[in-house]
Amino acid sequence: MDVTIVGAGLSGLTLALALAKAGLPSLLVDKISPHAAVAKKNDIRTTAISLSSRRLFTVLGVWQKIADNAYPIHDILVSEAGSESILHYDSRTIGQEPMGHIINNNALKKSLLSQLEKYSDFVSFIDNRSVIALEIRKEQALLTLDDGKVIVSKLVIAADGRDSRIRTLADIQHTTLDYHQSAIVDTIQHSKRHHNLAHERFLPGGPLALLPLQENHSAMVWSERTAVAKRIANLDDEFFSTALKERFGDSRGILKSIGPRAVYRLAITVAQSGISKRVALIGDSFHCLHPIAGQGFNISVRDIAVLAELIVDAGRLGLDIGSTPVLKKYQRQRRFDIMTMGAATDMLTRLFSNDFITLKTIRCFGLFAMNNIKPLKNITMLHAMGMLGILPKLLNGKTI
Ligand SMILES: Cc1cc2nc3c(=O)[nH]c(=O)nc-3n(C[C@H](O)[C@H](O)[C@H](O)COP(=O)(O)OP(=O)(O)OC[C@H]3O[C@@H](n4cnc5c(N)ncnc54)[C@H](O)[C@@H]3O)c2cc1C
Repeated sequence: MDVTIVGAGLSGLTLALALAKAGLPSLLVDKISPHAAVAKKNDIRTTAISLSSRRLFTVLGVWQKIADNAYPIHDILVSEAGSESILHYDSRTIGQEPMGHIINNNALKKSLLSQLEKYSDFVSFIDNRSVIALEIRKEQALLTLDDGKVIVSKLVIAADGRDSRIRTLADIQHTTLDYHQSAIVDTIQHSKRHHNLAHERFLPGGPLALLPLQENHSAMVWSERTAVAKRIANLDDEFFSTALKERFGDSRGILKSIGPRAVYRLAITVAQSGISKRVALIGDSFHCLHPIAGQGFNISVRDIAVLAELIVDAGRLGLDIGSTPVLKKYQRQRRFDIMTMGAATDMLTRLFSNDFITLKTIRCFGLFAMNNIKPLKNITMLHAMGMLGILPKLLNGKTI
């Protein structure tokens, strides 16, 4: 086997499809069955997909399947409870494209799986199996599964999430900082239209975002101190809606929780390296961020675009796709983006999730300044859209 990808979540599935489309075979191993997880709708979250990620999904033929259920974001409003300052991003000031689209994670996984079926000669699955050992030899990586089966490949890719077993087996250190926050996820129906505006409201317990879905529906991501989040998530729909209105205000009229609802523990985890011998990390196994900026999966898409292009090119040139020079290029090309995005989301989370009066004054000034310094505002928008810097082919809408 050329490539074994451990983890068939959003990152693993996307990478397998990018490789398959370029003619490079891979094997996907997961401790669950991704098909069964999709059928059960296990993941109720939505994801804000940036413009560059959308381009990649278009090249892979996935966007065409989900476009009707992808809801554009034309404006983003940032406000803080108890402050008059607001920050308004309007995508029309920098072009025709929306800032991003909101899609349902389950729908995205479903279309990735259905698209992968078309490339069944280039991708195979081992479901319901965990990796228990990793051995690196000169030209091969050997993975042992919990049924004793051994898989030999040139390159192992860890896409097994924030508690990555592969990262540990490859002896790659990581740093985790617990925010003691959890995100409550729900779908909200409201009496006023959202006009494709995403609104993020900063509260002392954490940010609360309403992201546009169809007509008068929004996806909610409400971060709160963990103990409080659990209590709020367990309220019945009526009390929940009242608690939400107290925090969010009435800009969207009457709010109604229509569920389903789930709670996710929030922390930042960043691996100290994205590679070791014959191993590369992508997605949450490499970097798991606070959803404050809706960028966690988008930076995973950037990992995928860079790594896929490098190993496909290496393979076409007859080079060893799992060799250290190829992996070092991946590490070099991804380091800056991950470090800056990690630092930015961490700083935002800490700066806004409190009630200290001095920090409140700084925040108030920061929102005002950002709203009025146009070049800075435009750069932030382009960054959020994934459009800054030299982009790999897939993010430019080109095949590899
Ligand atoms: C509330 C919330 C909102 C978010 N909103 C956004 C957003 O708007 N925009 C955005 O870009 N990002 C967002 N994110 C981040 C995004 O959801 C994640 O970055 C993304 O889902 C990570 O996908 P992944 O495939 O890397 O990891 P995972 O989804 O964790 O997948 C890991 C896979 O590996 C498998 N696995 C684990 N261990 C093993 C093992 N030992 N052996 C075999 N298989 C294994 C698992 O079963 C799973 O299928 C959000 C996150 C949260 C929590």
